[in-house]
Amino acid sequence: MSSELTPDALYDKCHALAGNLWWTWHPEVINLFRDLDPIRWRQLDHNPIALLKEFTPERLASRAAEMVLYSRINHAFRRLKEYLASSNTWYASQAGVLGSKPVAYFSAEFGIHESLPIYSGGLGVLSGDHIKSASGLGVPLVAIGLFYDQGYFKQQLDENGFQVEEYMDTKVENLPMKPALSKEGKPITVGIDTRNGRLLAKVWLMRVGRVDLYLLDCDVEGNSPQDRELTSRLYGGDERTRIRQELVLGVGGVKALKALGISPGVYHLNEGHSAFATIEVIREKMHEDGMSFDDALRETAQHSVFTTHTPVPAGHDRFDAALIEEHLGPLRDAIGISYEQLLGLGRVEPHNDAESFCMTVLGLKLSRRANAVSQLHGHVSRRMWAHLWPWRVEEEIPIGHITNGVHVPSWLAHQMRQLYDRHFPSDWIHSMGEADPWQKIHDVDPGELWETHVALKNLLIEFVRRRVSRQARRRGEPDEAVETARNLLDNGVLTIGFGRRFATYKRATLLMSDLDRLLELLNNPARPVQLIFAGKAHPKDEPGKKFIQAIANARHDPRFNNRIVFIEDYDINVGRHMVQGVDVWLNNPRRPLEASGTSGQKVVLNGGLNLSVLDGWWAEAYDGQNGFAIGKGTNHVSDEITDARDGEALFDVLENQVISTYYQRDVDDLPRAWIKRMMNSIGSLAWRFSAHRMVMDYTRSCYVPAAGGLSCDMQMR
Ligand SMILES: *Cc1c(COP(=O)(O)O)cnc(C)c1O
Repeated sequence: MSSELTPDALYDKCHALAGNLWWTWHPEVINLFRDLDPIRWRQLDHNPIALLKEFTPERLASRAAEMVLYSRINHAFRRLKEYLASSNTWYASQAGVLGSKPVAYFSAEFGIHESLPIYSGGLGVLSGDHIKSASGLGVPLVAIGLFYDQGYFKQQLDENGFQVEEYMDTKVENLPMKPALSKEGKPITVGIDTRNGRLLAKVWLMRVGRVDLYLLDCDVEGNSPQDRELTSRLYGGDERTRIRQELVLGVGGVKALKALGISPGVYHLNEGHSAFATIEVIREKMHEDGMSFDDALRETAQHSVFTTHTPVPAGHDRFDAALIEEHLGPLRDAIGISYEQLLGLGRVEPHNDAESFCMTVLGLKLSRRANAVSQLHGHVSRRMWAHLWPWRVEEEIPIGHITNGVHVPSWLAHQMRQLYDRHFPSDWIHSMGEADPWQKIHDVDPGELWETHVALKNLLIEFVRRRVSRQARRRGEPDEAVETARNLLDNGVLTIGFGRRFATYKRATLLMSDLDRLLELLNNPARPVQLIFAGKAHPKDEPGKKFIQAIANARHDPRFNNRIVFIEDYDINVGRHMVQGVDVWLNNPRRPLEASGTSGQKVVLNGGLNLSVLDGWWAEAYDGQNGFAIGKGTNHVSDEITDARDGEALFDVLENQVISTYYQRDVDDLPRAWIKRMMNSIGSLAWRFSAHRMVMDYTRSCYVPAAGGLSCDMQMR
């Protein structure tokens, strides 16, 4: 059985598997790591490198023999090698023109896995999903980000339900990264000059399947003690920290590519944080290709793609002139433009001194192709930025849209994956961005689909009990409270999940707006409802923290009958359990502030149904049969009226559609009409809102034309 593999060779194979984040979307490899030591696996945040450190090659070999893991390890290792070597990809078959000039994808955060805390939320998870799909499709792409050694905060609630933030040091040696090497084989440090001295950053390399992810890190000798902490925390510090981080990401990122010997054909700026990159690209073109400033600017714009992610004003970074001059001054000297010209690049009205420098404006001005992240967000963004093109009518504003999607293998539960494998065409995972394979869902036996869903719901309930009882124990609560937590929730009860940032526009407490009506729903003896909440508030968002408190403290109020639970520390792991196990995913933002949203797309894959305001992706996804809509997608004159109307609409649809359909059972106790909706949801939405479809759209309508290939500017007006 256990082949001739020596303990050392076995150990090396496990390390190779842990060293490429490809494993994060392969459940058979995840299960393999878990089987090595299930308890430590959980305690170590599902980090295989940390786990392997606890084994000697000999102990690993004996554990592998005991658990019959040899052939699984060999098989996984072979698959990884084949994956990395294969050139038989969607991109290759499209005869793309990018070739040796890859897309450079810049993002301030990457959410790839819970063991890698370099993301805070939706933007990061989207970037992670984007590069995973680029890997799967074979799109030549390198990614640039920052390495935050403390990441984003860990959330705990105190006895009053108030959020407490804690930052933890990440152990670099436990992460799958190594120093990136230059053409000459040397570790790379880039230097960025400011009016105030030089800022240094070293460069790490992480492998995400076929994609190389480079992360810049200011914790290097030669930086001041303060600058060594510059990239410690995601979205920490003040405006000055922020601009310095963005300088490192944008300008430092372009310099790092240069040092690596990579010359990109396209620069994709995912959100404004990285928009300074364009100015460094202009400098390169002037100094290396001898272009004039105007030509270099035009060329840079031709090769740049900009994606805007939010209509919320606070989501658009703005800096005052002094900060811009301090940090971009040497660069503007190098390209020979004036102080006013530089500031003009970040202003709607170039000469308006009252206007601060906006990173979104810079991104829009210096990219020929720009897009929003859903159809509705496209309309909103064109209206929002129309004054940048005052001579154009709104329909001609050059901002298109490519709706966000999620990386299917990362968010699909193993059990559901097995169900699809049984019923879909054998190579469905390679065409998951297309409609065809998914239509097979309508041939699946309703009982089989329902049983799989119920099994996943059970796993979620177990997870909630484990987490909430641990929370209670940590707070030193009495034994009865811990015991109550161990028995929370009921598998037979309609379960609604709400997991997202607690930004106030997302209105986490909308259900609390009519307490009597809510209590009636929760405690209806024949058709009860239970709610699972999770989410972090930004450390400075006091109203958001109050929302958390209101929900978390429901457990002290006997009227709620323990039917509302709050799980601390929402992250990719908590999110994954929730989207895989809920019956219904609730999304009730104040329209049209949710640019896209992606968590509901993850729910689709696993058979849950969306109950959402017609905002973001749901406005173009909902067809009447594939989930539920709150309201009719109208806007009201004031927030107060909107909130009141939406609150009523939410209760109406819950009472009249959601709850009644869920509890309507046939003789086999199957909710036939509900299951039909699950199938409609999977069949009509899973492929359209997949990251594979999204990356194919970016490739066809942005990357290829920006690289100078045949222009097929479909949606890019
Ligand atoms: C998917 C995801 C998000 C984004 O979801 P939204 O619908 O935009 O709220 C945020 N955080 C985590 C951890 C996620 O997995």
